[in-house]
Amino acid sequence: MFESWSVTKSKGACARCGYEFPPNFVFFSCFQKQQGDFVRCDFCRDCWDEKEGDSVFCFWRSRRAAPEQKQTVNTDLMLEFFERLDRPDSERKRAFRFVLALYLTRRKEMKLLGVERGDGVESLLFERRPSGDKVLVENPDLTEEQIEETAAHLGRLLNADL
Ligand SMILES: [Zn+2]
Repeated sequence: MFESWSVTKSKGACARCGYEFPPNFVFFSCFQKQQGDFVRCDFCRDCWDEKEGDSVFCFWRSRRAAPEQKQTVNTDLMLEFFERLDRPDSERKRAFRFVLALYLTRRKEMKLLGVERGDGVESLLFERRPSGDKVLVENPDLTEEQIEETAAHLGRLLNADL
């Protein structure tokens, strides 16, 4: 399944009109669902305003990094994506949700409390910070290699090194 994931690296240009974003330019990015996969698309402001949003899974405002800067992923964006995946209905979404939980834990947005088992499914119980809300994340039972591939795929979607 991992091999079939489409690679959609941001080219730093509008997906509709082709305008190339200069450094520090603010644009809109979104994940769209295409044939069951997520594809990242970037749009300039005008094209975003004219766009029909029916296939948009989540979106955010991005700023093109200055050439010497490394693009970093904003934690709020990771949290939003994680929350949008709260009822994962595919292997891919379960893998994304699990890997996002690991990164959010590393960023101290979540804390791992333990493991719960039921109906043959293992889930990890996390606590959200600072709210203390409990969140269950199904363990998709990935190998180290699959976790790395999932993280790399997420990084390409988010256009940053995770
Ligand atoms: Zn455009």
